[in-house]
Amino acid sequence: MSYDTNNIFARILRGEIPAKKIYEDDWAFAFHDIHPQAPVHALVIPKGPYTCWRDFAERGSDAEVAGFFRAVQTVAKTLGVSETGYRTIANAGPDSMQEVPHFHVHILAGARLGTKIVTPLAD
Ligand code: 5GP
Repeated sequence: MSYDTNNIFARILRGEIPAKKIYEDDWAFAFHDIHPQAPVHALVIPKGPYTCWRDFAERGSDAEVAGFFRAVQTVAKTLGVSETGYRTIANAGPDSMQEVPHFHVHILAGARLGTKIVTPLAD
């Protein structure tokens, strides 16, 4: 899948669409999810044009990948959930049902989270 420069997260990065910013550095931008699935639900996105986990892992430079993953932890700390705990989710490819085609990591926290088992959809 080629990168769509008009996807919603690319537009948030360019400041064309508002977002509730949590954190930003050279590698990452973090903001609150518009439809939170937990008391704390943040999204962390790389600054570069990557569609998903696979694309970022395969094409991202070592500096981008390291900077991004460190930023996820910094966001958790900024949100005050680093010690209490948090769950990350990231999607890649059609079966993951990824909605927005700019790589992102969800940070879910703020409560004891339920099961990690995900029920496959019926066809
Ligand atoms: P995905 O299914 O792609 O992993 O998750 C996309 C996430 O982006 C969803 O949790 C959805 O609520 C969130 N989202 C979609 N559009 C917007 C938006 O315009 N602003 C914000 N802050 N979050 C969005």
